[in-house]
Amino acid sequence: MPYSEDTIAAIATPPGVGGIGIVRISGPLVEEIARRIFRPKKPISHLKSHHFYYGHIIHPENEEIIDEVMVVLMRAPHSYTCEDVLEIHCHGSPLVLKQVLELSLKLGARLAEPGEFTKRAFLHGRLDLSQAEAVLNIIQARTERELQFATRQLQGYLGQEIKRIRDCLREFKAHLEVAIDFPEEEVEIAPLDAWLPRIENQVLKPIKGLLQAYSKARVLREGAIMAIVGKPNVGKSSLLNCLLKEDKAIVTSIPGTTRDIIEEVLNINGMPIRVADTAGLRKTKHAIEAIGVERAWEKIAEADIVLLVIDVSRPLGKEDKEIYEKIKEKDIILVLNKSDLTPKIDEKVLKKEFKDLPIVHISALYGQGIEKLEKTIYHHLLGRDVSMPSFIPTLRHKQVLERAIEAINRIKEAMVNGLPAVFISVEVKEALDILGEIVGETTSEDILEYIFSQFCIGK
Ligand code: GDP
Ligand code: ZN
Repeated sequence: MPYSEDTIAAIATPPGVGGIGIVRISGPLVEEIARRIFRPKKPISHLKSHHFYYGHIIHPENEEIIDEVMVVLMRAPHSYTCEDVLEIHCHGSPLVLKQVLELSLKLGARLAEPGEFTKRAFLHGRLDLSQAEAVLNIIQARTERELQFATRQLQGYLGQEIKRIRDCLREFKAHLEVAIDFPEEEVEIAPLDAWLPRIENQVLKPIKGLLQAYSKARVLREGAIMAIVGKPNVGKSSLLNCLLKEDKAIVTSIPGTTRDIIEEVLNINGMPIRVADTAGLRKTKHAIEAIGVERAWEKIAEADIVLLVIDVSRPLGKEDKEIYEKIKEKDIILVLNKSDLTPKIDEKVLKKEFKDLPIVHISALYGQGIEKLEKTIYHHLLGRDVSMPSFIPTLRHKQVLERAIEAINRIKEAMVNGLPAVFISVEVKEALDILGEIVGETTSEDILEYIFSQFCIGK
């Protein structure tokens, strides 16, 4: 199924003078163009696919020789675009390349748009979108490491992982559809409950793994971003000061004084960590504070790790839980501050309210427990393994994955609340579609356009 009727052509090598220069042509007219402008040195009946031929490019009307070349024809579907592709390897003169290109245009090809060869490879299903993006990343790589990741992405690892995740969701959706189609009949339907752990293990876990790989790679490259959150007066500024081991943030006992966000760079075991002391985080009607609060949430969204500070000398409040609700998808360490005072919070209650969060006791006032906290932060960010993950999603993929997590949480919620299969099925479809954006199955035309427009002409 050809994606388009027309034939595209472009100079595939960079502008300027070079040893050789290549004109690449793809589409239905390729054989015809080759026949008209290429004169092989030894006469042949036709061009064999994937064979190099030596000869001349000639003007089809006056037979004038334009250049001495090597050509290779790659017949569909065994080519980059899955269409017939002709590559003409000329001498690397911009003038020669221009003439050869113009000849092919005269014979019915049109000038390719940026990335159009790769776009055709994608539209013919030879590459998924993440692989097409990898081609771009390979071309644009500035370091060997970037190149290595892009090359791995081109192998399709990400696409395969996404496929496994979507297969599980598809199976679930099929299961739901049976429940929808035969509501009254006595069809053996496994209880939905059985699906919760599968969604947890086969969908959420791998997605979170991909996101962790992203932030780990970012952390190793640029250092981590950490946010300190908690209701007013729990000791966030005091903690930041402890971590900085110097008095930079303003510490005060009046709630909500830390209006603006102070950013500092910590150094834990040689790892740079940018810390935002995110003001108060309480709901406020005061305009100035509201701005601070808004920016605080933005910072938290960016953070690789969040310290949720709780004041143990006061009972656990609604506000603590509200803050937790907002950040629960982040990587959190629960910091129990003011442990020098008599505790008013039962640790069992904490374990129940904040499932499985690592807990560190500190006293910011007396500088106790800070070393332990630093160790926990470090291990949390890097784990035992401080090597780069084997492959990492790009920023676009990361954003899609985050949306997918939201959709999957809605699925879980619908299941836990016992909503009818029809509702759950809608959410599952949504999650499937979101994940499909990574491989390009459900990606909007705008995003495709944007991705391919970043390519150069001829790629
Ligand atoms: P923030 O609003 O969360 O930034 O809290 P601050 O750091 O401004 O601290 C609020 C109050 O709690 C100040 O009076 C601090 O001295 C006090 N405080 C902070 N940490 C501790 C601690 O570990 N123990 C005790 N007893 N008081 C603390
Ligand atoms: Zn503060």
